[in-house]
Amino acid sequence: MRKFTWAMLGLAALAAVPATVTTQEAGFPVEIIKPGKGPYTFPTGYQTPWEKIQIMVTSKMSPNLFVLHGSEALDPAHPDASGGRAMALFGPDGVLMVDTENRQVADKTLAAIRSFTTAPIKILVNTHVHSDHTGANGFFAKQGAVIYSQENLRNEMLRVPARANGQAAPAPDMAGIPVATYSYNKATEGQPAVTFNMNGETVDFIPMMPSHTAGDTIVRFRKANVIYIEDFYRNFGYPFADQSNGGSIKGMLEAIDLIQKLANPTTTLIPGHGTLVKKQDLLAYRSMLVDVMAKVTTMRNQGKSLKDVLAANLTAPYDKTTLGDTQQSKDRFITEVYDEVKDFPPVVDGKRTMPRHD
Ligand SMILES: [Zn+2]
Repeated sequence: MRKFTWAMLGLAALAAVPATVTTQEAGFPVEIIKPGKGPYTFPTGYQTPWEKIQIMVTSKMSPNLFVLHGSEALDPAHPDASGGRAMALFGPDGVLMVDTENRQVADKTLAAIRSFTTAPIKILVNTHVHSDHTGANGFFAKQGAVIYSQENLRNEMLRVPARANGQAAPAPDMAGIPVATYSYNKATEGQPAVTFNMNGETVDFIPMMPSHTAGDTIVRFRKANVIYIEDFYRNFGYPFADQSNGGSIKGMLEAIDLIQKLANPTTTLIPGHGTLVKKQDLLAYRSMLVDVMAKVTTMRNQGKSLKDVLAANLTAPYDKTTLGDTQQSKDRFITEVYDEVKDFPPVVDGKRTMPRHD
């Protein structure tokens, strides 16, 4: 029998600590500007005044990891703060960016970055395909960024959907297409596909299951104890799974469960929109998804039409606690659940062929 020593216990305790557990730098994170709460209304025919929208440093996660977001009350797609949050890790090794904001404000996004660093833009990772996250990809590629994403995101971008009015799809902007790709694999779920060691930080690109889209990536900054969780979770408006781009409400549940494993109680989670949260804050959202899915499943099994299900107002119990709870946001969410609980099409090259509801 081996003799017990405190050193043995120390080693065992060290081994039990997951690699994700870190403590934040003293005094961080700092939130400078919070997103707005609304309610917001826009007149019919309103066009986003891009020239008025500012891109600002809205929070600092560490001395060299900043979060960028846009102005409140101008962009009807995201009235609480225009665009999808972007991040910049900076220092002597260059700038690593997460997402690029909208194309129309590319120069302002660069100017915001240039307000705190002159380092070259080197690496860009896209968390999902939507234009408020990838719109300025081409602009930043020309600044020198090598773009990383899931292969599905690259496919989604290459195959631009036809316009609603039947016009042919516009050609993709080849300058903005990710060049370094990887895929989600159930067997290695939660493990980084790519890790960068830059500027004193360790950054993991972790591919996600089809959830907000089929090409989602979350980005973990180990030292700062921060995870950018993109859009499978949101706290402004109802959940949005972009099923045409391979998204799935069930996948969003799996994504939340994975975050529970990857984050510790103090990890700052950065959604693409809405307020910054901790992993505990995701649980009420998860319960709502489970509840609404169960109710829609029951109604669909009873042969109820989409119109019947929408009329049942299943989100009513959640309206009081959901900021940005517009009719459009509710109807989109319920329609997604309705389409998912029966005959849900598979993902092919990052896309699903969804039924039309005209
Ligand atoms: Zn977004």
